[in-house]
Amino acid sequence: MELDALWGKVVAQVSQNVERNDVACWISTIEPRELRPGVLVAEVPSRLHVERVRASFHGEITRALSHLLGGDVTLALSVNGSLARAKAEPRPEPPPFWPAYTFEKFVVGTSNEIAYKSALDVTEAPGQRFNPLFLYGGVGLGKTHLATAIANRLARAVPRRRVTVLSAEVFANELIQSFRTNRAEAFRERFRTSDVLIIDDVQFFAGKERMQEEFFHTFNALYATRKQIVLASDQPPRDIPNLEDRLRSRFEAGLITDIEKPELPLRLAILARKAATIGFELPREVAQLIASKVVSSVRELEGALHRLVAACRLNGRTPDLSFAFDTLRPLFRARPPRTVEQVQRLVAERFRMSAQDLVCRKRTSRYAMPRQVAMYLARKGTKATYAEIAAGFGGRDHTTIMHAVKTVEARKTRDVEFSAMVESLAEKLQSA
Ligand code: ADP
Ligand code: MG
Repeated sequence: MELDALWGKVVAQVSQNVERNDVACWISTIEPRELRPGVLVAEVPSRLHVERVRASFHGEITRALSHLLGGDVTLALSVNGSLARAKAEPRPEPPPFWPAYTFEKFVVGTSNEIAYKSALDVTEAPGQRFNPLFLYGGVGLGKTHLATAIANRLARAVPRRRVTVLSAEVFANELIQSFRTNRAEAFRERFRTSDVLIIDDVQFFAGKERMQEEFFHTFNALYATRKQIVLASDQPPRDIPNLEDRLRSRFEAGLITDIEKPELPLRLAILARKAATIGFELPREVAQLIASKVVSSVRELEGALHRLVAACRLNGRTPDLSFAFDTLRPLFRARPPRTVEQVQRLVAERFRMSAQDLVCRKRTSRYAMPRQVAMYLARKGTKATYAEIAAGFGGRDHTTIMHAVKTVEARKTRDVEFSAMVESLAEKLQSA
């Protein structure tokens, strides 16, 4: 097998188990030179490459080599500085991070417009205007899509730019790995030399002190040199539990923007766009049906459409209202979300008081504890926002609700009986 062809196959195989970013950064930059018995001799642009490949990818690569060549083959790396210069030439089109996640494919409506515009702004002046950009919102609303769209656009605009995209979980895993292999410096270097760092699902850092510590330093290094940082999370910084204050304040230093649940016109627009993309004819009344029933996330909306498309193709037919209804019935059966009032009734009953007592402003502990439990359950067991819950509790400030949630959470960790009581209420609420 020709050397380049062999190497192409190795990269393809390794890419299945290694993050796209890492492939671009550390594996595609390896230049195979010679195949000797049992050894592939290759060059990389720097010492750092040697270390990083040895630390993180050597196993994957030798496995692929051995598999392709049938027999044990290892990799011998040496540094060739001229490769670094060659690689610095602009590439025609850098590989996008996730081709489907672009601005062009993002349908904009009132619930996501601000997030969309903020993301676009970031791509126009990275590191200048909003740093960090913190995107938050519920599951399946487009955070990862937007964050990746930023990465794609920035990487495309300036191919030399080092754009790093990964989830907080991968960051954590790689950090642990780097400690194990005594490669913490290479790990740090990798992040601190990024021009753009995008971390998804940062709520994963909750309660992980060591990760937070490491990320704090990474953040500072990039921030100080005006590199753009984008963070996505299912909660705003203030609600991420057990997040160090210094990190929270970093997260809050730029622009925080949320994506809300899609409104009806946006749901219809998304359905229309997705159907058109896959060449599926979606009758208006069927789109109306789906959009009226599937309300809480774009992912679920896509899921419903895909299910319908599959059923139509299987049956060789086009969808009408009754076929769509039958096909999607299991998705529609989801119980309606619990309301703040339901929570209040339930908690009031448990503590033998009236719902009015819960809402009122009496401060004695007879009321305070149940009230905080009710606030907590309203937050955890319904889809209401802090502001909506605050309104439901007699127009209090939303920080009161946040405080209640924290208080209950803290007590749950040290008071088993209290915790059991709250959990049983939560269960009752869900089965109500
Ligand atoms: P999150 O990260 O918020 O959980 P994702 O970004 O993974 O959500 O989005 C879930 C799915 O919905 C993805 O397939 C994404 O492309 C799609 N999606 C979300 N919002 C939009 C939108 N406004 N327009 C088009 N597709 C969207
Ligand atoms: Mg996501």
